[in-house]
Amino acid sequence: MAKNTTKTVASWEAHSSKAMGFARLDEEAFPVFAEGWVWLVGAGPGAPGLMSLLCYHAMQNCDVVVYDALVNPDILRWVRPGAELEYAGKRGGKPSPIQKDISYRLIELAQAGKRVMRLKGGDPFMFGRGGEESQTLAKAGIPFRIVPGITSGVGGLAYAGIPVTHRDTNHAVIFLTGHDATGKMPANVNWKAIATAAPVIVMYMGVKNLGEIAATLIEAGRPAEHPVTIVSNASLPHQSAASTTLGEAGAFITANHPPTPAIIVVGHASDWRELLDWYGPSLRDNKIG
Ligand code: SAH
Repeated sequence: MAKNTTKTVASWEAHSSKAMGFARLDEEAFPVFAEGWVWLVGAGPGAPGLMSLLCYHAMQNCDVVVYDALVNPDILRWVRPGAELEYAGKRGGKPSPIQKDISYRLIELAQAGKRVMRLKGGDPFMFGRGGEESQTLAKAGIPFRIVPGITSGVGGLAYAGIPVTHRDTNHAVIFLTGHDATGKMPANVNWKAIATAAPVIVMYMGVKNLGEIAATLIEAGRPAEHPVTIVSNASLPHQSAASTTLGEAGAFITANHPPTPAIIVVGHASDWRELLDWYGPSLRDNKIG
């Protein structure tokens, strides 16, 4: 197992009086988080208020949280006192622990009788490697549960006033990753179909290869003047958004280096932004959402 940073939650007292409002949830019949189980949980795109009640419940009942780089540290404040926090992402320019190591770490912790919360940004099954991790758990006979989360490609875009579907214009959506396991533009997809099949393409992890992907989409039949909107740090107070066109997307990235994480949307879904861009400066003081 690659080295993990382990620490114990100490900041509980600071917010426990506020969190008390959740106490009545204990009366509800929440599923038991049993020892030796792993819960793969989506934390949502960033704003703590976008986590689910099951996510919160897991935070209150786990022994250890193994979390990724994309998880907003503010969310970890809700983890119960005494639970351990293990970071499983990239840090300080070091390469991320390999996936196999993370999966085996989950198995190791579960076999030690811990209640293991595997916390991921967004939704664990949306480009979150939740599929790979749950496969490894299943093969090892470790009982697990999936707690879906709000994915950045839907809920994150909503924070930028972009409805991914719309009865007038957006009847279909493609979710696409900007790179495959090697970091290159995905080769194993039908670019012609992707370019023309749906009015909206939502691209995760797309910033680095956007120029190449845009050129490929245009060559495959997507109009170069189609709008492209890049939403960075969606649902967080420092959220920002920038717009360009497919034809200019590559040059735009080189010139402007939009902050990451960023979700990219291609198509007229972002035309609604002018009217619907609701997450304005006056709302951003509240860090819950
Ligand atoms: N499981 C996650 C996606 C993981 S892949 C989900 O469902 O959202 C990582 C990519 O997600 C990033 O490269 C970026 O494209 C996107 N992403 C995650 N959080 C984001 C955020 N707050 N703002 C913008 N993009 C985000």
